[in-house]
Amino acid sequence: MSAIFLYFVQQQDQLLHLFFLLLLSCIAIAIGSFLNVVIVRLPELIQNKNANDPSSNVNDPSSDASSDASSDASNNSIDSSKTPTDSRRTSIDPNRTSTNSSKHSTNPNKDSIKNPSKDSSKDSSKDSSKDSSKNPNKNSSKASSKPSSKPSSKNSSKASKKITSHTIFRHYLTIIKSLCFPPSHCLHCKQRLAIYDLIPIISYYQLAAQCRSCKTAISFRYPLVEILTLLLSILAVIRFEFSLQLAPALLLIWALIVLAFIDIERLILPNCITLPFAGLGLIINFLNILLPFQEALLGMIFGYTFLWFIYYGYKILTTKDALGFGDIKLLAMLGAWLGWKILPWMILLASIVGVTWGCILMIQGRANKDTPLPFGACLAFAGIIALLFS
Ligand SMILES: [Zn+2]
Repeated sequence: MSAIFLYFVQQQDQLLHLFFLLLLSCIAIAIGSFLNVVIVRLPELIQNKNANDPSSNVNDPSSDASSDASSDASNNSIDSSKTPTDSRRTSIDPNRTSTNSSKHSTNPNKDSIKNPSKDSSKDSSKDSSKDSSKNPNKNSSKASSKPSSKPSSKNSSKASKKITSHTIFRHYLTIIKSLCFPPSHCLHCKQRLAIYDLIPIISYYQLAAQCRSCKTAISFRYPLVEILTLLLSILAVIRFEFSLQLAPALLLIWALIVLAFIDIERLILPNCITLPFAGLGLIINFLNILLPFQEALLGMIFGYTFLWFIYYGYKILTTKDALGFGDIKLLAMLGAWLGWKILPWMILLASIVGVTWGCILMIQGRANKDTPLPFGACLAFAGIIALLFS
């Protein structure tokens, strides 16, 4: 009797696990869909903010846009063009390999890469978003008119510094609002997407990778992010099971997916993700969830200082930027989450991936030795591997 009872208990336990796994899979795919929105809208929001605020600077480490962009995004001719800024499931032909795959740009060869600010304003102009890009053209014209009057720009920068502390909350609220509103729509024809066009993975194939109304091609990145989110989330469940470590591990994986794809498409690693997540990593490890707090703190310090020395060492020797401040902050964030012991292996793995990637692109003739690579994406990949397999 007791053997039969035990058998049923075990079966019930397995069924419960299976149910949770299915539930988590559904949540992971939905999260993947949301991550796509973040990948598209967040860089636009940052660029609009920078256009409005002349005191912020892409190369300024404290700026939201500080990133690999400091490794000279203006020279970029490959990565941002592979899947350039697109809209919610629209406006990009992923099969294109030309430097500018935007169908809407009037002169793709001229404005694509050499002037990323122009490019971004065009991309964002596709977005009818009222929150994230009220009118990028207007904004940019405002921004261009501001620096002409130096006193006013100084005053505005002083004012912005004064209110920085109490605007952090508002800043993040604006980001969240911009990510949620307006609802998903085609950025080319502005047609709002119907619910049946929003089913992750399935809708992409049902629509044959085209917008239902205007037939603009949809980037393959959409199903790719959704599938990746699903697979990596399942791997996290296998690695951590249903323990206390699972939730932070999933959060880190989702953040790294977003950072990797934003870096691949825009060559930026937004501060509004890396900095809060570095803090969150410390808090989580302060509670001893993933590893001891001392390891996490040392990881953050070593991660930052190691790449900082490489950055300035390379700059002194060659007067060029080996990487961006975004990479430095990302490694600090990974150190805060995963500790200092794993850092050398992560850097080694990211470097191997980066070199291999660069070689493949050069063999294909899509890059030269001056083409910046999204090293942040390589670091994010190494971070996910370290989290799941260490
Ligand atoms: Zn459309």
